[in-house]
Amino acid sequence: MTGLAERLADLASGAMLHDAHVTGCSRLSAEFVRLELSAEAFRKSTWVPGAKLQFRPRRGSMSLRTYTPISWDADRGVTELIAYAHGNGPAAQWLRRVTEGQTAEVFGPRRSIDLRAAAGPVLFVGDETSVALACALRTVAADASYVFEARDPTQLTDVLAQLGFTERVALVATAADRVDLLRRARDAAPETPYTLVVTGDAATVHAMRRDSREWERKPRQVKGKAYWAEGRSGLD
Ligand SMILES: Cc1cc2nc3c(=O)[nH]c(=O)nc-3n(C[C@H](O)[C@H](O)[C@H](O)COP(=O)(O)OP(=O)(O)OC[C@H]3O[C@@H](n4cnc5c(N)ncnc54)[C@H](O)[C@@H]3O)c2cc1C
Repeated sequence: MTGLAERLADLASGAMLHDAHVTGCSRLSAEFVRLELSAEAFRKSTWVPGAKLQFRPRRGSMSLRTYTPISWDADRGVTELIAYAHGNGPAAQWLRRVTEGQTAEVFGPRRSIDLRAAAGPVLFVGDETSVALACALRTVAADASYVFEARDPTQLTDVLAQLGFTERVALVATAADRVDLLRRARDAAPETPYTLVVTGDAATVHAMRRDSREWERKPRQVKGKAYWAEGRSGLD
């Protein structure tokens, strides 16, 4: 971007985004960080579990990155995120450097998946980027089974344990054919009518939607959303 374009991006962002203070930052592992953000504007917001919050990781650019609040305390104006920093994108770089006391420019919360509308028990399928959504789901659904794919299953097992996910959780190593993931999800499908929630890699969301149509215990409802896609940046 030219200097003028960067200044215009900063001006436009200043009008659209609001400042949140990083009031907590704990490293759950080498790649996962839990952030507490505080902002006056959060006091006036209504949070729907599953909603998204965006932030601008780089000044001089309008580009936003999307994350999932795991809780919302409107009285204190505080929310929390769990973010996975993978690769070298602007958000990953920002997440590796962030410390308590910094400021983040945020937009939202805004509607994404509405977990309150999940009917019956939930079969949750996701990856590292879906951990926060799993935490948000816990605030509204007691009856859920979780199946995760992970590039580093040992790391994710440890992070999930720190967050209290120790029961009804299955983890498989990420694989291009997804055979293991699809099998584990099918096996975990509840006997009674249920909702399938699937997020993470766009290719997994697609494969899970397609495969689940053929299951003996099909989901009554599917709530799916791609959180990232190979070779694409900043999905919203
Ligand atoms: C509604 C919504 C909610 C989300 N909630 C969360 C959340 O709570 N926590 C969280 O960690 N993430 C979440 N994500 C995913 C996150 O926004 C993306 O991973 C984002 O692209 C990361 O930005 P980046 O700047 O690091 O990489 P980008 O600049 O967007 O991408 C750079 C490269 O990295 C690749 N890439 C991006 N993410 C991944 C990944 N996870 N694994 C492998 N390759 C990847 C891209 O394909 C691209 O090639 C959410 C996404 C959406 C749409």
